[in-house]
Amino acid sequence: MTGFSGGAAPTVRLDDGIEIPQLGFGVFQITPDEVQARVEEALEAGYRHIDTAAAYNNEQGVGRALAASDLARDDVFITTKLRNGEQGRTSAADALRNSLERLGLEYVDLYLIHWPSPARDAYVDSWRAMIEAKEQGLVRAIGVSNFLPHHLERVIAETGVTPAVDQIELHPYFSQPELTRVLRERGVAVEAYSPLGQGRDLDDPTIAEIAATVGRSPAQVILRWHLQHGYIAIPKASSRSRMAANLDVLGFELSEADMLRIDSLDTGERIGGDPGTFEISQIR
Ligand code: NDP
Repeated sequence: MTGFSGGAAPTVRLDDGIEIPQLGFGVFQITPDEVQARVEEALEAGYRHIDTAAAYNNEQGVGRALAASDLARDDVFITTKLRNGEQGRTSAADALRNSLERLGLEYVDLYLIHWPSPARDAYVDSWRAMIEAKEQGLVRAIGVSNFLPHHLERVIAETGVTPAVDQIELHPYFSQPELTRVLRERGVAVEAYSPLGQGRDLDDPTIAEIAATVGRSPAQVILRWHLQHGYIAIPKASSRSRMAANLDVLGFELSEADMLRIDSLDTGERIGGDPGTFEISQIR
């Protein structure tokens, strides 16, 4: 564990020595009305990493929660994402400025291209805008989300800059062995979205058995599995008790055998969109 001040989770070191708390709080599908309260609760529970996106339409509420807290700006790691419909060199730069304004921040810690959206063929230009934004100090680290190996290879080949992070759907039923291998080889940190399989993986009998053995809940076992793999995970939860429980995964360890049993649950079936074809503009 390295020291991210004030955080209740260990951290993963990105390029440039930037530390990202390995557990964050995801705010997808939390309404604009509710998000401020949920993020305030998450910060009180000890989260120091919040994952939002322009497309979630709740950046303002996240910003209000940050403003209401007495945490210093550099005590909290904030990620937001570029919408598909705003991809492109100029539009991506404008989109980031608008996100910063909604968040009420001078910089974000991590800015991601939300989806490759290949039909637009604008992700390399978007990536160039993000490289510039980093040079301008508007973001500390830049990365991608939902990128498959060939999308990654292309941005690296055309710009020479490797994304710090690829945020991908990743949970026991969809553990992406091939993509995670490529990301490790490339030195790209793996960030797991829908880390609990949107709750669907929690009823698995193998997870339940392991949970009973280690005296923890299924959610804690799954999040511990992410941590032991070295992944960053951003579970969403609606109650204070779940938020706290999801963060309380440091006091136990899964055996190598249990890790392998969970690895073997992979079905190869994703819940979310297929990055090869997902094209929704995300602008309502
Ligand atoms: P999760 O895997 O985090 O699952 C959330 C579900 O699990 C909710 O229904 C929640 O219920 C339930 N849950 C959480 N904790 C517990 C617990 N301890 N016990 C029982 N049930 C629990 O799925 P999400 O899809 O919400 O993903 C999390 C985050 O990942 C998002 O908020 C977003 O930040 C990111 N994401 C990114 C995407 C991308 O394209 N980059 C796509 C999708 C997600 P309840 O809310 O009722 O507590």
